[in-house]
Amino acid sequence: MATVILKNVSKSYSPTSLAVKNVSLEVEDKEFMVLVGPSGCGKSTTLRMIAGLEEASEGEIVIGDQIVNDVPAKNRDIAMVFQNYALYPHMTVYENLAFGLKLRRYPPREIERRVQEAAEILGLGSPQMLKRRPKELSGGERQRVAVGRAIVRKPKVFLFDEPLSNLDAKLRVQMRMELQKLHNRLQCTMIYVTHDQVEALTLGDRIVVMKDGTIQQVSDPVNLYENPCNRFVAGFIGSPPMNFLTGKIIVQNGDYFFQDKAIKLRLLPQHHARIAPYRDRDVTLGIRPEDIYDKIFALDARPEFTITATVDVLEVMGSEIFLYLNAGNNSFVARVSNQDAAVANQDLQVVFDMSKAHFFDARDDKAIF
Ligand code: ADP
Repeated sequence: MATVILKNVSKSYSPTSLAVKNVSLEVEDKEFMVLVGPSGCGKSTTLRMIAGLEEASEGEIVIGDQIVNDVPAKNRDIAMVFQNYALYPHMTVYENLAFGLKLRRYPPREIERRVQEAAEILGLGSPQMLKRRPKELSGGERQRVAVGRAIVRKPKVFLFDEPLSNLDAKLRVQMRMELQKLHNRLQCTMIYVTHDQVEALTLGDRIVVMKDGTIQQVSDPVNLYENPCNRFVAGFIGSPPMNFLTGKIIVQNGDYFFQDKAIKLRLLPQHHARIAPYRDRDVTLGIRPEDIYDKIFALDARPEFTITATVDVLEVMGSEIFLYLNAGNNSFVARVSNQDAAVANQDLQVVFDMSKAHFFDARDDKAIF
């Protein structure tokens, strides 16, 4: 069983600041867990502590049934794939794949068997390919060799630190799918660090969103997208990001409204109980660009869900258009079909799908719902 458990783990590089603060996390056996967050939030440090490349300043790290804080990296039975593949330039693909096993004095036949097997899995198995040196490989092939070096070890846990960052956009998408297939095939525990939320959503069984050295939320991709626990997670996951509008909750004739200078939107009855404590208080309305419609195309265009906004800029994206809109002090983006005929500077009636609205406490940015 290759579970990975962090219990109240912290890391300080200097006496005055913590790079990782009191992180607790359980990665299940065979799970693909992605750590995501902006640069500097402590993802790599967390991964490096699991690998044994950094020592935890506090807390406990457990791999399988063993506390590994005092176990050196080479004895932790993990394999790590880095962003800069770090292949040996003077060695062939075969030799690069075999090197780690040779160091560990595996019998030659076992080395050959494992290298062939890994090379086949990664599509590197042809005799010509195995004879090439890194400089004769494309970026994607080099990355595959780097992954192959991890596979031949048959480790308990795979750790990936931004392994696709050096590849161009098209290749990244392809390698993303290959990593998914690899995980399905190998059925082992993988922990993957990225700053790219799309990579996180597409790869992770579960995702850990980090900020400033702390875990914000741990969840499967769909729930993370639909039920972010705070404004940071809501804004980090999704592209274009969720819109945030500032205003107040008011009550009129038993109905709750979100109101600002140029905006008045009625909340749905199913949200009354949770919003009730925020009556007459400042809140942030969060709504994704795909949940705002040009009135002409809206299915439910009741006036209480409709506001007037001015079109600032249009971005034509091919199959869809991003409309940048202003209403009073609030600016937001709507993602509409390319059939939409809106033009810049026009006043446009837009409809909010209030069943998809999120609300955040304006004081601490925590999700109300
Ligand atoms: P991420 O992987 O999320 O970009 P890191 O884990 O690399 O973040 O870094 C977290 C914080 O720790 C950052 O503020 C970074 O500057 C700091 N840090 C990382 N490595 C070191 C180091 N070796 N020495 C000092 N500070 C470091």
